[in-house]
Amino acid sequence: MPELPEVEIVVRELRGQITGKTIQTVQAIWPGSVEQRVDRSPVTGQIQRIDRRGKYIIMRLDETVLVVHLRMTGQLLFFDDTRPAVDGHVRAIIYFSDGSCLQFKDVRKFGRMYHLVSEQEVMKNVGTDALEMDSGHFRDMLKNSKMGLKAFLLNQKHLAGLGNIYCDEALFLSGLYPGRKANSLSATESGRLFRTIRDVLQAAIDNMGSTISDYRDTKGNKGNNQNYFKVYSRENMPCKHCGTRIKKIKMAGRGTHFCPQCQK
Ligand SMILES: [Zn+2]
Repeated sequence: MPELPEVEIVVRELRGQITGKTIQTVQAIWPGSVEQRVDRSPVTGQIQRIDRRGKYIIMRLDETVLVVHLRMTGQLLFFDDTRPAVDGHVRAIIYFSDGSCLQFKDVRKFGRMYHLVSEQEVMKNVGTDALEMDSGHFRDMLKNSKMGLKAFLLNQKHLAGLGNIYCDEALFLSGLYPGRKANSLSATESGRLFRTIRDVLQAAIDNMGSTISDYRDTKGNKGNNQNYFKVYSRENMPCKHCGTRIKKIKMAGRGTHFCPQCQK
């Protein structure tokens, strides 16, 4: 599933590709992919700006917003010309007045485009973006939570954008056991985790995101960051710090990778 770094790459590319363009029409090939919540108003207008919070892409039009969540397998593919769906997994196409188009491909069909008056309609429970968070706020949230760290970090209300990959990587690099209670961290540990999360996300952005299976940027390119994972998808392989075999267990409902030696 695309997490903050992958969505950030898509947003950066889209800013260059479609800012200022006028949407002529949106074709919903699979009707469930586009949720129309603006009364009787078709999706039209000029794209003024593109923002991101957590894993949400927010395209600001003249009077409304088009919010996209890629979920498990969503991809946004940009083409300079008008063309029909590139394959049978394209669920919607945005056609622009200059003849270019943006195709929303989604094998699993969990992704959504929402046409809204305000993004708050679908983002009420989305907290501060993980790259916008300040360390004091992060420390306060940890102190007030009895959750395990993995569950705490996955919860988008706390900080928005982390998913399974970057939680596991950040906890390994912080030397913290994923099941440790959030409120048990010292100020030093909390500060270290805060900085590590930022570093892990920034490194992934620098590497153009991680491609496990479906993630592609808007030109169809894979990311490179999967080549640098320390623990994620490395079950039974030796820890890069100490050589102990990486373990995978289920925690907070998700497969969780950690080193039993480095993360006691
Ligand atoms: Zn280790």
